[in-house]
Amino acid sequence: MFCLLCACNKEKTQVIPEELEDYVHAFFRDARKHGNNIHIEDFDLIFDFVQLNNDSVSGRCNASNNRIEIDAALWERKSDDVKTWLIYHELGHCILGREHYNGVFYNGECQSMMCSDFISDNCSTNFFSDAWKAYYVQELFCEERILPDWYDTDATLEIITPLSYNTVILDTVIFDDRLRIDSISVLDDADFQICMTFHNWQDLGTCIHLNWDSKSLVLCDNKFTIREKVLVENTYLFNNYFQSKIGMELDDETTLCILKEEEWYYFFVDMNLIHVMDFETWVDKRVYTNSFDENMELSFKAFNF
Ligand SMILES: [Zn+2]
Repeated sequence: MFCLLCACNKEKTQVIPEELEDYVHAFFRDARKHGNNIHIEDFDLIFDFVQLNNDSVSGRCNASNNRIEIDAALWERKSDDVKTWLIYHELGHCILGREHYNGVFYNGECQSMMCSDFISDNCSTNFFSDAWKAYYVQELFCEERILPDWYDTDATLEIITPLSYNTVILDTVIFDDRLRIDSISVLDDADFQICMTFHNWQDLGTCIHLNWDSKSLVLCDNKFTIREKVLVENTYLFNNYFQSKIGMELDDETTLCILKEEEWYYFFVDMNLIHVMDFETWVDKRVYTNSFDENMELSFKAFNF
C-alpha cells in the first residue's frame, strides 16, 4: 500500500495546462480506485509542453521536482488512448516512483505500461483495447502481473460444421491490385471467423493486410500490427498494436485469421494465436486486402457459428 510523506502544511505548486487536466485527474481517480489514497493537492506537479527533438521520446519526468515535459508536436498527433498512456506513464515515474519495467507475456505483450517505449521491439502495449487498458491501469497501481483470465491461451480456430452459416468460400482467386468483398453478411453481430491465405506473398516482397471495417491485421517481415483508424477532430489517426514476434518462420504461403467470440477478437498467423483483445462491433461490413503490383493468389473463408 502507498504511504505519502505530506504531513507538512507547505503549499504545493501545480501547473497543469488545460488540455492535460482531464488525463491527470483521471490518473488520481484511478489511483484511488485501486487503493492508493492519493490526491493531486498533495503534490508539487508541473507540466510543460516542450520540443523534445527525439521521435522515440514523447514525455519525460524529472522526479526531483515532479516536472513533466511533454513533446508538444507529438501530443498533437496522438489519439486519446496514447495521450492517456503517456500521462499515466510519466505520473507513474513522478508520483508513484516507478521505474521502467520491461517484462513480457507469452505472446509478446508488455506486462506493464512502465515499459521503456510505447512501441518497441521488446514488447507491445495495447492501450486502445478497454480490457488491456484495465489490465495496465491495475498493474500500474498494484504491480500485479498476471495474464488476465479472458486471455485464453488455448483458443483455437473453429472448423466449418453444420452449425456454421453465412459461409463464404473463395478457393484460390488470382487478382491484381486488391481483393475486396463488400457487404459480407458474415460480419453481423454473431460470432464469426475470417481467414485469408496469401499463397505467394513473399515472392512479391511486400506486406499482407487483412482489413476489415476501419481495422487491419498487418504482417510485414515477421512483425505484426493490429491497426485501428480513428477519427479525432476531423483528422484520421491510427492506433497501432505493434508486435515483433520472434521465432516464427513464415513461408511463401501465410494464413491470417480473425476469430470473434462476443467482444473478444483472437488473431492467428498460420494457426498460431498471436494476440487477444476486445473491439467494439464494427460498422462497415467490408473485408479487403492491401494492393499488390503483381498477381496475388489468395484463398478466403468466412463463416458464422
Ligand atoms: Zn518512462
